[in-house]
Amino acid sequence: MYKITLIPGDGIGPEVTAAMKKVVAKAGVEIDWEEVNAGMEVIDEYNTPLPDYVIDSIKKNKIAIKGPITTPVGKGFRSVNVALRKTLDLYANVRPVKSFKGIKNRYEDVDLVIVRENTEGCYTGIEHKIGDYGAETIKIITRPACERIVDFAVDYAKKNERKKITGVHKANIMKLTDGLFLDVYREKVEGLDIEADDLIVDAAAMNLVLNPEKYDVMVMPNLYGDILSDLCSGLVGGLGLIPSANIGKDYAVFEAVHGSAPQIAGQNIANPTAIIQSAVMMLRYIGENDAADRITNALEKVFEDGKVLTVDLGGDASTDKFADEICKYL
Ligand code: NAD
Repeated sequence: MYKITLIPGDGIGPEVTAAMKKVVAKAGVEIDWEEVNAGMEVIDEYNTPLPDYVIDSIKKNKIAIKGPITTPVGKGFRSVNVALRKTLDLYANVRPVKSFKGIKNRYEDVDLVIVRENTEGCYTGIEHKIGDYGAETIKIITRPACERIVDFAVDYAKKNERKKITGVHKANIMKLTDGLFLDVYREKVEGLDIEADDLIVDAAAMNLVLNPEKYDVMVMPNLYGDILSDLCSGLVGGLGLIPSANIGKDYAVFEAVHGSAPQIAGQNIANPTAIIQSAVMMLRYIGENDAADRITNALEKVFEDGKVLTVDLGGDASTDKFADEICKYL
């Protein structure tokens, strides 16, 4: 029996995490979920969206899976997601993007992994106003953070027998910050027995839309990873599908790439695939590879069959019905 922290989140979070729990249980992995709440709903009581008990639970259990949490735009509290990644030093955000047969898409053979630096770049939250005239945000890039994220990506590529690694940057304009990232990337990939290249982020966006099958493992600073992973989700069927892992030296937090989707919350129509695939990443992390394989196979069968699909994929199945369909194949 594993003990794992579960943060249901808000918006569609509780619906998709409930579906995920059902599928994991059906796959036969016994998990004692320690449920803790964070976000809007706990602010009144605790005066913070990220109370200490959330961090304490993850530190105790070492592993967590979380639903999305709404972040107010422009004002209000800072992102719980960013705070979690920083507090637990979850420096690598891994976002695999793979096509499923059966889902109608412009592309069929996408199989790439975005490795996003998760602790610095434009997400330091250091911002200030310049009177009424403007505002400034501080982007920080450090050598140690570049080294560990490139090391992580190289290690990931080797362990998963990937064929190529691409560093993404904007060093032509941000010569010092992205220049440092690019220098470290080039130092680290030189002489590797795996193909390595690098690409400016705007060219990367175009190339990913033209020829996504040419990319494999892509490593990049924080903001580019955030944007390009949403772009890549669109190549294979949308945000409802793409999982992620936030990995640090001591802790790991798994979550969907998508947000809380307030427009469809509470309607039992959200696609739970992204959080289910995040659970698959979590199962692999704890060594439950057989259960992870079986859930992946069940998902593949549901998509190939194409009869029970959620609304985002052109079907009319509810979140619950879709989860039950996966369970049928387990
Ligand atoms: P979003 O991902 O919530 O939604 C974008 C679009 O994708 C919407 O049309 C939505 O309906 C659709 N969508 C997303 N997930 C879906 C699913 N599982 N099934 C079907 N359709 C789905 O992005 P947003 O609207 O920019 O953000 C909403 C809130 O979520 C914001 O407050 C944002 O800060 C927050 N957010 C949180 C996280 C996180 O918790 N890690 C990540 C991204 C955004």
